[in-house]
Amino acid sequence: MTASYVILFDFDGTLTESETMDLIYNRFAACGLKYSRQWSQGKISTIQEITSTFATITASREELETLFEKTTLIPGAVEFLQRCIDEDRHIAVVSDGLRWYIDSILSRAGFPGIRIYANGIYFEPDGFKFSFTWYDPDTPMRSSSKAGIIRRYQRRGSFVTFIGNGKSDTGAVGVADRLCARDWLADYCEERAVEFVRFNNFYDLMEKFQQH
Ligand SMILES: [Mg+2]
Repeated sequence: MTASYVILFDFDGTLTESETMDLIYNRFAACGLKYSRQWSQGKISTIQEITSTFATITASREELETLFEKTTLIPGAVEFLQRCIDEDRHIAVVSDGLRWYIDSILSRAGFPGIRIYANGIYFEPDGFKFSFTWYDPDTPMRSSSKAGIIRRYQRRGSFVTFIGNGKSDTGAVGVADRLCARDWLADYCEERAVEFVRFNNFYDLMEKFQQH
């Protein structure tokens, strides 16, 4: 295991095309995307979004899990992850979402052992409970501090590549040693003249990695 070179992946919108939480909210939450939109506008934190939305869900765990079967990884992601594993890279997923669905989707795609930094969900008789293990009061609008997790690796001497797509990834900007971005995050980096590698899918990114 080469611990000195670490690749961290955001999950929703980076390894997948869809936002899993939004799929759950759309299908099962009485409030729909109300709190997700408020989060997107920067009005509420991730923890507020998750707890407020899940408070309006009555579906069982099994019903919720039927949605994961429709979630696929974006083109090239399977090959990219497999190459990282074959090359003995240290890889991990760093997400503001829930470990529960990330683990399920990655396992189904053939990657059951990948380390996941994300929030916990517990299916209790009186409703959903959560744990926010990677919360940092310095970034109160996020549930998982991506900057904090990157710095933990860097303190151990690792060179950290972060790969992301969205607003939950802005904490990695200026902190990761190398940043790869698609969609919203790529535009965000471009507007701020931040050095980054733009990619659309992982075939694309694999070619760019080969050039380095
Ligand atoms: Mg994302």
